[in-house]
Amino acid sequence: MHANAASPDFDEAAFRAEVREFVRAELDPATRHKVENGIYLDKADYVGWQKALRRKGWFGAAWPRAAGGRDWSVRQEHAFLQESAIHAAPMLIPYGVNMVGPVLYTFGTEAQRRAHLGGILDSDVWWCQGYSEPNAGSDLASLKTRAVRDGDHYVVDGTKMWTTEAHWADMMHCLVRTDASGRKQKGISFLLIDMRTPGITVEPIVTIDGVHHTNQTFFDNVRVPAANLVGEEGEGWKIAKFLLSRERTFIADTGNKIRMLRQIRATLAQAAPALEPLQRALQAERLARIGADLGALLALERDYLDEWMAGRDDGIGASVLKVRGTEVLQAMTEFWRDAQGAYGACYDAALRASGEGLGSALPWVRASAASYNYLYGRCWSIFGGTNEIQRNIIAAQLLRG
Ligand SMILES: Cc1cc2nc3c(=O)[nH]c(=O)nc-3n(C[C@H](O)[C@H](O)[C@H](O)COP(=O)(O)OP(=O)(O)OC[C@H]3O[C@@H](n4cnc5c(N)ncnc54)[C@H](O)[C@@H]3O)c2cc1C
Repeated sequence: MHANAASPDFDEAAFRAEVREFVRAELDPATRHKVENGIYLDKADYVGWQKALRRKGWFGAAWPRAAGGRDWSVRQEHAFLQESAIHAAPMLIPYGVNMVGPVLYTFGTEAQRRAHLGGILDSDVWWCQGYSEPNAGSDLASLKTRAVRDGDHYVVDGTKMWTTEAHWADMMHCLVRTDASGRKQKGISFLLIDMRTPGITVEPIVTIDGVHHTNQTFFDNVRVPAANLVGEEGEGWKIAKFLLSRERTFIADTGNKIRMLRQIRATLAQAAPALEPLQRALQAERLARIGADLGALLALERDYLDEWMAGRDDGIGASVLKVRGTEVLQAMTEFWRDAQGAYGACYDAALRASGEGLGSALPWVRASAASYNYLYGRCWSIFGGTNEIQRNIIAAQLLRG
């Protein structure tokens, strides 16, 4: 997926400076304001930024050149993601560029590549991920959504759970059961489904932050062309595993944490004169601990990238980063909310859409934006494979020796 060796002439410091300058010049100020102030981003914010990156040649740049990318090494991709997040660029939506795109250039037919890779690279087609089901999350291989072959179509029936931004999506990459007779991993297939096909219903799920990010998606007699099967029928589990390893790679999301820590420090420094000396000391101690944990996370991430670049990925590094990254995020957002004092109990989801946030002079509006980060931060230890499952993976690998 990535060129393993860094190009010998890759100058990381110079590249990071170029990224900073690009973000400063090209990121829509309205989008930057939202990211910096904890305001809800809409589809246009993400698409606008991704299109700007594409014009620069920096979207899908880790893809091979033959697929339309630039063969970036994992180190270059990491430098880009971290640096742009520090400077308040929105996250890149992964379902197309990081998930189904690599699946298609690795396992897809020539016709599938021609049909879909361009739309992903240009951000003209929004993809969602249809993996989890009501009784198949951690135990994903138990999934039951059925696809039965009928001539040159599959007929799909069932339901997918937690399909993030399915309400914005044009296409879904979906795991379906094509055979229920053998080992459960055996009868799974990977289908591309046009979200406008009759028989698909998308029902909103509003999460604890009061925002509609995710959905339950229902399939009732949905006819999907057999040409949309990726790989062989029954090969879906292999493809799913390939894709999931990709999902966790950059989940430590250190750029956003660096930005957030700076923001917390600045906010506390402003509020410090009004605090009792003991309060100030206690806050400083907690902040120092979070800063040290973030420093350790950055070191872990750096080691992981070095190992990967050297071709020595031990299979658990991404799981370790996922667990520690989400723990640091949750400690940070909890502290930020606590630091709002009594106002920390305030949360109004409508304020996030109204454009008021952390920058507001009103303490309850600021507190509400901090609480959003706290509330939404809870889900990071669930998606991408829960932290308990990551610990199982780490333990199994280490105990095996
Ligand atoms: C906000 C959000 C967005 C999401 N977006 C998507 C999406 O776009 N597409 C998609 O397909 N999925 C998505 N997911 C689903 C996500 O991948 C699953 O929620 C996750 O894998 C856990 O599955 P589950 O919810 O069924 O919980 P379960 O698997 O039922 O787990 C419940 C609890 O039991 C624990 N547990 C389960 N098995 C074990 C075990 N063997 N050992 C120890 N502990 C265990 C878990 O850690 C968890 O704490 C999203 C989830 C959330 C919360």
